[in-house]
Amino acid sequence: MSRKDAYKLIEEVRSYTCKKVNLSDYINEYSEAEQEELDIEFELLGVSNGFLSEVICTITGQKVEVYGEVETLFPCPCCGYRTLTESFNPKEGTGYDICPYCNWEDDGTTDIQSYRAINKGSILDYRNKLRSNLNKYYLNKWLKK
Ligand SMILES: [Zn+2]
Repeated sequence: MSRKDAYKLIEEVRSYTCKKVNLSDYINEYSEAEQEELDIEFELLGVSNGFLSEVICTITGQKVEVYGEVETLFPCPCCGYRTLTESFNPKEGTGYDICPYCNWEDDGTTDIQSYRAINKGSILDYRNKLRSNLNKYYLNKWLKK
């Protein structure tokens, strides 16, 4: 199955689920408004084909290999996963992407011990949070450098 078909299937299942299942029975802070804003292709930009295969297997019960080129994203300076759609560059006015994996906001920081007000902590603090909570952070979704 191509990545494009994987996106399409996930989107169709999500749309069906949102109409047929009362999600607030399962999700405490379920927000219908937030649900409508999400764009599957943007949400899954740069995730590994293996991750998409797992999602497809979870929702269909079928083992399917997903193929296709993974969109090339920029590596997060904190966790190292390729999760950012733009790199920090004040001259071009790009950056300040928030990593969907570790939540670090890329403000151009390279010193891992430097406290950043925008992030309310340092890169080191964020890395320690990842290490101390391995059960929360899924390792297979994003590609490393
Ligand atoms: Zn990150």
